[in-house]
Amino acid sequence: MNELTENDHLRYARHITLPGFGKEGQKRLKNGSALIIGAGGLGSPIAFYLAAAGVGRIGIADGDVADVSNLQRQIIHTTNDVGRPKTTSASEKMKALNPDVIIEEHREFITIENIKGHIANYDFIIDATDNFDIKFLINDACVEAGKPYCHGAIRQYEGQLTTILPGTPCYRCLFTSTPQSEKPSGPIGVLPGVIGSLQATEAIKYLAGIGKLLTGRLLHFDALTMRFTEITFGFSPDCKYHHLHKKD
Ligand SMILES: [Zn+2]
Repeated sequence: MNELTENDHLRYARHITLPGFGKEGQKRLKNGSALIIGAGGLGSPIAFYLAAAGVGRIGIADGDVADVSNLQRQIIHTTNDVGRPKTTSASEKMKALNPDVIIEEHREFITIENIKGHIANYDFIIDATDNFDIKFLINDACVEAGKPYCHGAIRQYEGQLTTILPGTPCYRCLFTSTPQSEKPSGPIGVLPGVIGSLQATEAIKYLAGIGKLLTGRLLHFDALTMRFTEITFGFSPDCKYHHLHKKD
């Protein structure tokens, strides 16, 4: 375990003085790692907050380049980054914010071929993608490998998130099929800021070993009515991982 340095005590003073967090929580963050899949709307606040919090090693995976139409919500990229790889743009901002954390850039899209290798190297995985097929792929790879992860999704004015740990109900316990893909409309630009910040909170809690995670619960947010709704869910007999979930 890497110990906290004098510099760490200054930078993370507000964590270290936080009841229940303390030096121990910060040390756990420093020795922890997370993989952010997607450097877009959700990935932007997640990348900023995990770097700021001092998560020791952060991977960011995306094969896309920044487009001018992304800037309305993907706040880690600036006008000058248009046309540049999103992972390069994101990792530059993260390093500028906190040069003490290791940023690992994976400039490729996550596929069925490469996902196992990527997630194996990290303690916690964050689904910050906008593609339902990839969401199932992340779920399957994490459940099969016994990796904890946080799912997040946004659409127009609404968003949702849930956390899946080994031994808790998974994304396939909630959803059985991929929704019909539709023409992109929205989302309102602040929405990924709300959902991504909550996903970052879950990652930090998991790595620091504090609080109660959002397992078996789907938190839904409606920006138009400013309402959060929690839907609890259990293991589904229709989930293809039912045999893995039930260890008795
Ligand atoms: Zn399941």
